[in-house]
Amino acid sequence: MEYSQIRTNFERHGFTTQLFSTKEAACSYLYDILQNQTIGFGGSETLREIGLFEVLQQKNAVIWHNKVPGLAVRKLANCADIYITSANAVTETGEIVNIDGTGNRVAMTAFGPQSCYYVVGKNKITANIVDAFARCKNVAAPLNARRVGAKTPCAAKVDKCYDCNSPDRICRVVSVIERAPMGMKCEIIFVDQELGY
Ligand code: SF4
Repeated sequence: MEYSQIRTNFERHGFTTQLFSTKEAACSYLYDILQNQTIGFGGSETLREIGLFEVLQQKNAVIWHNKVPGLAVRKLANCADIYITSANAVTETGEIVNIDGTGNRVAMTAFGPQSCYYVVGKNKITANIVDAFARCKNVAAPLNARRVGAKTPCAAKVDKCYDCNSPDRICRVVSVIERAPMGMKCEIIFVDQELGY
């Protein structure tokens, strides 16, 4: 599906959207619109890859547990009025799916900030909600499990979800954002490159 139709589908669901051809252009856009703010980041390989923390901290206070690990930092980030994250999958029909281990990102994308921005590479786009769940469980979660060193069957093989009951299971809270939550500005920033997983 063309980006124009995907954007229309999200906008019909209450989201605003942007489209950039490069990660540098997306970073420049966020640098221009976010200054003198306190910003929380969700865990995201996409945000790490595009270097957004380094860009935004020049003119903002940015809180990210990827830089200072721990639950306390997650809680602090979840007090911010502006939240930036990515998604494990989005659908061409205009929904966002995320799976968390601690639930901090799922919580903030549902309620809390005044504004929530999602930076989404083209590899995150799926045809529908069924494909989105399949992507989350069989692609994103195994790669994330391996990244964090989780002792799960998916981290060992990185091939699919085994619906494990491991103490290290990283799939514990699932969210589907079907419409922009009431009272929250939600913006999808599409980047026409492969970003994160
Ligand atoms: S449920 Fe377990 S096996 Fe499946 S993706 Fe999550 S951590 Fe991996």
